[in-house]
Amino acid sequence: MFDAHWPTRFPLIDFGLGIACVQCTRDAKATVSDQMVAWPCAVVEKAIANAP
Ligand SMILES: [Zn+2]
Repeated sequence: MFDAHWPTRFPLIDFGLGIACVQCTRDAKATVSDQMVAWPCAVVEKAIANAP
C-alpha cells in the first residue's frame, strides 16, 4: 500500500508548493492544485491508524 501512496510534489500542477499523495493525486487526474490530494491521504491515515 505504501508502495504507491508516497508524498511528492507536483511542479506541473502547483509549481511544487505543496506535498501530495502520488497515487491519489494521479487517480484524481488532478490538473489544478484544488484537485490534489494532500499527504497523508485517507488511505495512509487509515493504514497508520490500523498499524499494530
Ligand atoms: Zn494516497
